[in-house]
Amino acid sequence: MPSDYIRRKLKELLDSDDLVSMYIEKYGELVSTANVNQLKEHIKKLKNNANKEAEEQKDGDDPIFETNMRCPACYRKDVIHYSLRAKSQVIKETIFLVPQYSGVSGYFAVDFNLLQTTVCPECMFASPDPRDWTRINSISGAETPSQLLARGKFMQELRNTELDRKNIFPEAKADVNYFARPRSYSRAIEATKLSILRAELEMQYLVPAVNYKIAWYNLKIADIEKKQGKDNKETLKVAEKFFSTAVEKSDCPTVNSEMESIYEVVALNMYLGDRDKAASFIKIAKDAVREKESKVKENPTSETKKDLTDADKWEKRIGTLWENRDDESFWKNNL
Ligand SMILES: [Zn+2]
Repeated sequence: MPSDYIRRKLKELLDSDDLVSMYIEKYGELVSTANVNQLKEHIKKLKNNANKEAEEQKDGDDPIFETNMRCPACYRKDVIHYSLRAKSQVIKETIFLVPQYSGVSGYFAVDFNLLQTTVCPECMFASPDPRDWTRINSISGAETPSQLLARGKFMQELRNTELDRKNIFPEAKADVNYFARPRSYSRAIEATKLSILRAELEMQYLVPAVNYKIAWYNLKIADIEKKQGKDNKETLKVAEKFFSTAVEKSDCPTVNSEMESIYEVVALNMYLGDRDKAASFIKIAKDAVREKESKVKENPTSETKKDLTDADKWEKRIGTLWENRDDESFWKNNL
């Protein structure tokens, strides 16, 4: 039989050119279901091993503690939420402001970016924001309802779309511990994608600051992709798009998040090579500061003054990006 035919046949069974080459190398040109299954099993094992890459080394105390939360969508009450103990990590930020963790005095290092998203194992509702969950007091058992419960129609749609969420990662629905610790890079990305799904639904129900949230989820995914050794430019472009929209639609809840979004647009565009767009957002930052200055002049309250201080601080950070625009090591060392 010609090997073209074999290749086509194997491609149907294995669905990847790499796997076809691997098959031929291992078993020759004889197509057998047993061999196909054996190869698939082998690849699965390799993938499981690769998933262990993010496992933590346990030298020192655990900086993470667990609490149980109740899911606002399906009411399951033993959803595990991970928190970082205060002062247990040194936190450095990348140029895109993504925190990078290393352990301090007696605590081992944990990449909290991987654990930050809480996922309900029952209905796949996901969010890194504790206020989106119904919090349970560990002593009294008293519950603080999720802030989302006030949005009746959104909650109804969240419940209606349970099956859609479950079908995205079919393996997760059969395994209560799928998103439990240690969480691999790929599962951390899946958890964050479930958060994006929730936020996209929020967008339909006009929940504020959704663009800002989706932008941040993509920055987190890009950071994990970088750690996986993957090219993360496409994900950074998506983050840039949502930060730009957040600024253009004034969809930022505070002066800090507004200025931070401008910072991100500038940083991302400079990194991705669009200096014109970066420059136009530097102008937006300057205008924002001027606007806050005139508000202080009109009405000098502690609130308007704080807004100006915040805006000023961010404008300086944005300026630093521009000053270092041609310094390759500045960009490389801070990614
Ligand atoms: Zn649930």
